[in-house]
Amino acid sequence: MSRLKKLLIFLIKNVLGSFLFFFGGVHIIKYLLRKKRYYIVLNYHNFSRYNNYKINRGDILEIGYERNFEKQVCFLKKHFQFCYPEEFYCKNTARGIINILLTFDDGYKDNYDIAYPILKKYKIPAVFFIVSSVPNTNSWLWHDKVRFLVTKNKLDAIEAEKELVKLNAGKKMNSKFIEKIDELSKEFPDKRLMMNWNEIKELAENGYVIGSHTHTHSPILFLNSINRKKELQSSIKIISEKINKTVSQFAYPNGLYDNDCDELMFESGIKISYTTDKGFNQKNDSFLRIKRIGVNASDSIGVLLLKLFLNKDK
Ligand SMILES: [Zn+2]
Repeated sequence: MSRLKKLLIFLIKNVLGSFLFFFGGVHIIKYLLRKKRYYIVLNYHNFSRYNNYKINRGDILEIGYERNFEKQVCFLKKHFQFCYPEEFYCKNTARGIINILLTFDDGYKDNYDIAYPILKKYKIPAVFFIVSSVPNTNSWLWHDKVRFLVTKNKLDAIEAEKELVKLNAGKKMNSKFIEKIDELSKEFPDKRLMMNWNEIKELAENGYVIGSHTHTHSPILFLNSINRKKELQSSIKIISEKINKTVSQFAYPNGLYDNDCDELMFESGIKISYTTDKGFNQKNDSFLRIKRIGVNASDSIGVLLLKLFLNKDK
């Protein structure tokens, strides 16, 4: 996508978002959804600018947006009711009250540094999904390596984004592209991007839910049944030993799953699993296919509202 097209989309999103914000968009959403019980699950990653889904937006090493994130949290707290999934699915919440949950994928250190103090201050529940091979190492996840190489002009942004789109659509990426990333591996700075076990343990001890996001962030869909089990069960075992709690929630890397995954979840003790399928959840939806809406800590309240508005009927 050309830079001009991206700029136009950015402007349109912000103008529409501001329009929704100033003309009571949140009340319109609540009015339209007043007859049923809905559960919105938001999906954050790290706190770099435009941090999700687009490979060539912003530098992975430039983090921030604490003030904007705090604004988002206050706005959501004012209009929706935060709760964990068990509460939404098992209790009889009143119709017209929209429940909400924040989830954070991958286990970035900035989740501990930035999100955790704000969540704690406003008593907001959240689930953090950890890739169990990463804490206490300076390893980077594959998609962060790609983003870093793009910002350093070592990798073509259009090619990288094309490959990411393929991956997120459940298609295999070009093997030459994967080899190129491996060849450039010496370029990565020796910097810790992810939480360590002490930080993760502190979140768990303070009541936050720690879930599994596999052992190596391999999309389950691409693995055979033996490796699927290994990825999931080794990660559950490691995380539960480190935090001294049962791990019963899981988020699919890249949101990719198939029909065999439900059985894998059952036999691994996972009670709730989260996809990246967009939409609002309802009472009778499956616990193992929770839909989530991808948001960024840098999104304005208007853009956040626009994302909710566009996904409300799904
Ligand atoms: Zn992930």
